[in-house]
Amino acid sequence: MINLLSPEELAKLVKRHGFDRYILDLIDVLKEDFSRWNEFDKIPRLAFHVPDGVIELMPIADKKLFSFKYVNGHPKNPLFNKSTVVATGQLSRIEDGFPLMFSGMTIPTALRTAATSALASDLLARKDARTIALIGTGAQSEFQVLAHKVIRDIKTVRYYDIDAKAMNKFANNMRSSDLELIACDSNEEAVKGSDIIIVCTACKQHVDVILNDWVRPGMHINGLGGDCPGKTEVELSVLDRAKIVVEFFDQSLIEGEIQRYSRQKAEKKVYAELWQLITGDKVGREHDQEITLFDSVGFALEDFSILRFTYQLCQKYHIGEFVDIIPPLQDPKDLFSILNV
Ligand code: NAD
Repeated sequence: MINLLSPEELAKLVKRHGFDRYILDLIDVLKEDFSRWNEFDKIPRLAFHVPDGVIELMPIADKKLFSFKYVNGHPKNPLFNKSTVVATGQLSRIEDGFPLMFSGMTIPTALRTAATSALASDLLARKDARTIALIGTGAQSEFQVLAHKVIRDIKTVRYYDIDAKAMNKFANNMRSSDLELIACDSNEEAVKGSDIIIVCTACKQHVDVILNDWVRPGMHINGLGGDCPGKTEVELSVLDRAKIVVEFFDQSLIEGEIQRYSRQKAEKKVYAELWQLITGDKVGREHDQEITLFDSVGFALEDFSILRFTYQLCQKYHIGEFVDIIPPLQDPKDLFSILNV
């Protein structure tokens, strides 16, 4: 039997476990899996560049489990009242190749991106970080802010989006939090006085959403929207000043902010892959004046972690719909009999 996990069932599961506890436990699972970095078979994701977007496949495996995610990125979709990013994914057993769970991955993508971003901030942002600048208040935004509240005592969010409706939506969704929400009139105003900048805009071109002049010593930046060839958000000179951490160098060089460097320069400039900070192989933030950048593109391991974690919780709470998607055969060689024609 395979577990088919719909967004409604996932919502039930997150509520049952508790949102903060879900994020905290997911961060632990991410740490556990990133610490086993060398046990995974991994490749940069496979991307099909299509007019106005990208469609990608993200496979990964360890000795016991295999997972893949199908995900798109179509920044113009909201103009037609459709999400920019939607996804589906599967977790399978290695021993016989049988699928265990097939899940909608649109919400898990937001959850795992937020948990990974919070994990990176935990390793790279100042311990006394209290103020977030949130640039882009679209689908990912609330997840990002709430995950950061789990790892730092965040008090204030300064936010801006070119779409006033998206800003109102964000404020409305956050109204029951105890955060001070400051709606700003520009990206520059939002960044002013912040400790952690989360930039999650969608536009399939190089846009200087964050300018070098605005970035002060001690700030940490999580750059999420620079995640595809020809799509970046941070002015190049910010990269020159920052300590840069990526998920998987070979993929980030194609898709991340560092795509604007040659391989040779990127090899010199990138300080670490995230797993190296988690294992203690390299130190995260070293002093209060450092500018740090987590150049996130989203890596298959993050989907693997959330699929394996959510699958365990589904079993614990008996959540999901269990379906026989594999033909139930008496004789494994007699597939034709199922058609009954
Ligand atoms: P979304 O379309 O729902 O939201 C993006 C928001 O950015 C929109 O509200 C838009 O109005 C705003 N925006 C665009 N240009 C702007 C600018 N110059 N200044 C301020 N706001 C601007 O998209 P989403 O699902 O929230 O995703 C955001 C980005 O994050 C996308 O680029 C997506 O590809 C990326 N993403 C990355 C990861 C990762 O793992 N790194 C995971 C998921 C999504």
